Amino acid sequence: MSFSQLGLSEPLLRAIAEKNYVEPTPVQAAAIPVILRGKDVRASAQTGSGKTAAYVLPILQGLAINRRESGRRVRALILVPTRELASQVGESVRRYGRFLPEPIKTLVVYGGVSINPQMMALGGGADVLVATPGRLLDLIDHNAVSLNSISVLVLDEADRLLALGFAEEWGRIAGLLPVERQSLLFSATFPPAVTVLADHLLRDPHVIELAPLLNQEPSILERAIEVDAPRRTQLLRFLTVENGWTRVLVFVATKYSTEHVADKLRRAGLDATALHGEMSQGARTQALADFKVGRIRLLIATDLAARGLDIEELPVVVNYDLPRSAVDYVHRIGRTGRAGAQGVAVSFVSAETHAHFQLIEKRNVRVILREQIQGFEPVESEPPVLVAANGGGIKGKRKSKKDKLREAAGLALPVNLVTNSVIPREPVNKQPEPKEFFPWAQRVMVGRRLR
Ligand code: AMP
Repeated sequence: MSFSQLGLSEPLLRAIAEKNYVEPTPVQAAAIPVILRGKDVRASAQTGSGKTAAYVLPILQGLAINRRESGRRVRALILVPTRELASQVGESVRRYGRFLPEPIKTLVVYGGVSINPQMMALGGGADVLVATPGRLLDLIDHNAVSLNSISVLVLDEADRLLALGFAEEWGRIAGLLPVERQSLLFSATFPPAVTVLADHLLRDPHVIELAPLLNQEPSILERAIEVDAPRRTQLLRFLTVENGWTRVLVFVATKYSTEHVADKLRRAGLDATALHGEMSQGARTQALADFKVGRIRLLIATDLAARGLDIEELPVVVNYDLPRSAVDYVHRIGRTGRAGAQGVAVSFVSAETHAHFQLIEKRNVRVILREQIQGFEPVESEPPVLVAANGGGIKGKRKSKKDKLREAAGLALPVNLVTNSVIPREPVNKQPEPKEFFPWAQRVMVGRRLR
C-alpha cells in the first residue's frame, strides 16, 4: 500500500514525501480513504501509530476544496487533552498543509498562557483550530470564537480527555456544534466512558480496531528491575551511564519527585530536568525543546506533563514510580518504540510496589521477567509496615492471615533471573533513612523490616 493509492492530492503527497514516510501506517491506510468519503470514524489508535496524519491529511484535503468564509468561524476543530499535544498537532497541520495552493490558517489554543493574543488571532476565524477544551470554553465565553461552521470535529486521545474531566466540558461544547458535521474519535483504549461519548458523538461510524500496542510485534523491550525504593536514583544513574542512554524519559508520581530526582541526578553529574504541570508554559516548552535536541539527557516528568508527547527516536522510558493503572503503563511505554523504532521501557519494582506491578502485568496480559542488577540487589523483601508516628500500633493495621502468608513467602532468597542464581543476602547493619516520598503513607512513618 502506498500513500498515492489512498486518494490524497498531490500537494499532500509532496508533504508526505518531504517527511520521508515510505508507506502509510495501518491506521492511516484504514482511516484516510474513509475520512475522505466524509464518514464518521471511531478508531482505536495508540499514540505513536501515526494517528495524527491519519486525520490531518484527509481533513486538509477537504478544507482545500472550499474557501473559508469571513467572521469568527472555524471549519475544523481538533480537541486534545494537553498543551503539548495541541502544539504538536498544530505543527503537523502546518507541515502537511504547506504545499496546498491556498494557505490553511491554523491556530492552536490552550490554557496557562494569556488569552488575549488567542482572542486577537481568532478575530478572522480559522480553518483549523486545535484546542484544549478548557481554553476553548474560555474563548467561547469571551465571544471570541464561533463553532457553528464546524464541518469536521476531532477528539484526539478521547480516553485522556475524559480522564481530565472532559465529560462536563463536552456537554457545553456539543450544544454549540452544528448537527451536520463529520466527527472523528481517536482513543488508545475504550473504557465504558469513551464508548458512551462515541455513541453520543458519532453517526453510523466506521470502526477501526487495530491490535493493541502490546499485542503487536514488540518494538519495545519491557524490563522490570527489582530495586529498593531509596536506591532508584543511583540505579537510574548507573543504567544511564552503563548503557550509554542518550535520552531518557523518566516517569515519577508527583511534581515534588520530578524536582527532587532531577536535582539528585544533576548533583551526580547528569543533565536532568523536571517537567510537570505546574511549571510555566515557557519553562515546559523550553525543557521539552532542550530534551528533544539532546541538551538534556534525562527528563523527569509526571504523567500529566508527558501525555501525548511525540519525541522522535526516544530510546528509553523509565517508570521510576510505577503508573497508577495498566492503561497508564501502556501510554507511558508508548512514548518509546514509536513508528517502528526500537525502544526500551524499564520499570523499577520494589517490595512495596511488587503486587501493584503484578496487577499491571495481569491487566495487560503480560509477564515481564524480573531482573536484578549487580550492586543494586534489593534487601527489602516485604512491604513496609505502617507505624503510627508515636510508635504505637494503628487500629485496623494488624497483620491479616494473608499478610502473614506473604511474609512467609518473602523469606525465600531472591533469585537473579538473568543469571538464574540465588542472591545471598548481605547482613544489613544500618537501616537506611526513609528519604523518599511515599504518597500513600502520608502522616505515618514508614518502618522497613530488613533482614
Ligand atoms: P502520532 O501517532 O501521530 O503521534 O505519530 C507518531 C510518529 O510517527 C510521528 O513522529 C510521525 O511523524 C511519525 N509518522 C506518522 N506517519 C508515518 C508514516 N507513514 N511513516 C513513518 N513515520 C510516520
